[in-house]
Amino acid sequence: MNDNGTAAIRLHQARKVYPGLGEPFTALHGLSLEIRKGEFVAVVGASGSGKSTLLHLLAGIDRASAGEVWVGGQALHRMSEAQLSAWRGRAVGVVFQFFQLLPGLTVAENVMLPMDFCQQWPAAERRDRALKLLGRLGVADQADKFPAALSGGQQQRVAVARALANAPAVLLADEPTGNLDSRNAAALLDIFATLVRDEGLTVVMVTHERAALQQATRRITLLDGRVVADEHTTSSQALADA
Ligand code: ADP
Ligand code: MG
Repeated sequence: MNDNGTAAIRLHQARKVYPGLGEPFTALHGLSLEIRKGEFVAVVGASGSGKSTLLHLLAGIDRASAGEVWVGGQALHRMSEAQLSAWRGRAVGVVFQFFQLLPGLTVAENVMLPMDFCQQWPAAERRDRALKLLGRLGVADQADKFPAALSGGQQQRVAVARALANAPAVLLADEPTGNLDSRNAAALLDIFATLVRDEGLTVVMVTHERAALQQATRRITLLDGRVVADEHTTSSQALADA
């Protein structure tokens, strides 16, 4: 099966079963959905509904037990582990709730690290590119500090800069505002919305944040590993429904 046109992401009957010690546990029951380039998708649902599992499949961090997972025209379900990890480094950027910056590297070095792995930019250009990305996120002045010297809001901006290091077409974020105060959360969501609007980035973001639904263009609700609602939203609509 070929990937079609403008779909940034396509799942076809994607299942995830965790083997576990006792009964195998089905975290995703044959999900089928298509996300177009330039969509800003909020994935919502109760704890344990499968949101992180879905994100892990899209990031190639974990594999579907059955079904198809296409991201950027690539069939993740057919890739070897080695192919997946090489693909992941350049095709998707991932942002987590707890920033996950490497404490022993400076801010600039953290952003350069994915470039060092993927070798898409010549070594001599990587620091400049990192500084540009940090500038876009409003934290260029923090470049030579270590992460521990930064506030949570600043660390998450650095994590977004790092996620964008290899110019991925898709940004995946798992509760990225979960550890931010409301002002920093709103600023981060504005950044995501700007990247979507100005650069055609596709964003899939797991969130509990009411404010996030103002920015997202689509809201997918999971319940017990199934999609129970899939709504294209405008800001006012999403807010009213939240
Ligand atoms: P959410 O992010 O929506 O809170 P998750 O995707 O993390 O949900 O988890 C969905 C379900 O799968 C939960 O019931 C969780 O306990 C289970 N689960 C997640 N990861 C594993 C794992 N590695 N092994 C076994 N069960 C898991
Ligand atoms: Mg989760």
